[in-house]
Amino acid sequence: MAIRNIRKEGDEILRKRAREVTEINDNILILLDDMADTMYEANGAGLAAPQVGVLRRVVVIDIGEGLVELINPVIKEQSGKQITLEGCLSIPGVWGEVERPAKVVVEALNRHGENITIEGEGFMAQALCHEIDHLDGILFTDKAIRFIDEEELEMMEQES
Ligand code: ZN
Repeated sequence: MAIRNIRKEGDEILRKRAREVTEINDNILILLDDMADTMYEANGAGLAAPQVGVLRRVVVIDIGEGLVELINPVIKEQSGKQITLEGCLSIPGVWGEVERPAKVVVEALNRHGENITIEGEGFMAQALCHEIDHLDGILFTDKAIRFIDEEELEMMEQES
């Protein structure tokens, strides 16, 4: 297990489409372990492989309900709408509001190569959409309907 370097906005790898994983070999398992370590060390809720410089369709998420590892995730269903407040480990110090589905159903493989289905609502739906966007070279700042500065963010945190 190791902490990997998180690529920052401006690094062109964040703009490329990641490739499907065709074989879950040791490299992919080590990648999953390292991505979880890197996410926890950075206090993030999710991380996609391109953010650590690997163009593979691999995502880790932990919104405080335990680690979720997804290989080749695909959004199969989405419904409703929510306005989310988002940041990104690759874009430090920037926050914005994004319109996301309120609920998504995602299919993926787990580390054992088994098909899994994840239903996410609220923050989990947000995290799934944000991380899967990374696999297609999309950043939340592309979709933000409004940016929020540090002062406003602090006020929002005090209110909640
Ligand atoms: Zn991100």
